[in-house]
Amino acid sequence: MNCDDARLLIHGHLDGELDLASDLQIERHLEECPHCAREYAALRAMRTRLKDEGFRFAAPAELKERIRRSIPASAPRRANAYPAQRAAWVRRAGRFAVPMAIGAMLALVIAPRTIGRNADQRVADEVVASHVRSLMATHLMDVASTDQHTVKPWFNGKLDFSPPVTDFAKEGFPLVGGRLDYIEDRPVAALVYQHAKHVINVFMWPSSGHETSPQRIETEHGYHVDQMFVAGMNCWVVSDLNPQELDRFAGLLRAGG
Ligand SMILES: [Zn+2]
Repeated sequence: MNCDDARLLIHGHLDGELDLASDLQIERHLEECPHCAREYAALRAMRTRLKDEGFRFAAPAELKERIRRSIPASAPRRANAYPAQRAAWVRRAGRFAVPMAIGAMLALVIAPRTIGRNADQRVADEVVASHVRSLMATHLMDVASTDQHTVKPWFNGKLDFSPPVTDFAKEGFPLVGGRLDYIEDRPVAALVYQHAKHVINVFMWPSSGHETSPQRIETEHGYHVDQMFVAGMNCWVVSDLNPQELDRFAGLLRAGG
């Protein structure tokens, strides 16, 4: 992230409006860039000052009384307005009914594909966020072991399924551990592999939908995400590894399962 990107996101970060991956990226930039860090500190200080009680003034009792007197006594009879509003709404709705019906038909034709894609993109964003979090929050592994016979039983009793666990050390992708994670509102298995200095997170949970062919889902933060099905598991692979190496790993995973 450069300073221009940081400047765009800094207010969202301050107000806690960013997604986790962007939050982590901007935090990293603020740690490295004294200029943006100063700007961020100034914004925070201003926000704190604005919240300060000393900046607020209580309205004098006389002003409150004047405002109260200026409101007509009949104001609370708002309830009477509802039938008229409802009639107007029904008339408006009638005028839009035909276009809406056409829209609904189009949505039925187009939506399943779009929703499928959007859902995949949403899961991809989630697995990238989990991947980044696992690297930054020193919570990469709950069980650190290069032995698949240690990692696999570790999941017993922690999940309602048993993920396939294979070590690919001979192929250059050693298994280094596993942990529990949370994707799509459910607990999932996260297997951690390494290749050179790169960490690969493999997220797995039982597949509920129909199984499709493997796909690459591009994400904007420099991570690559592969989605596939392995032994009845929905399987998401994420890493900053280059796409060719990641594909090689994904191939091993599919063959291993
Ligand atoms: Zn900067």
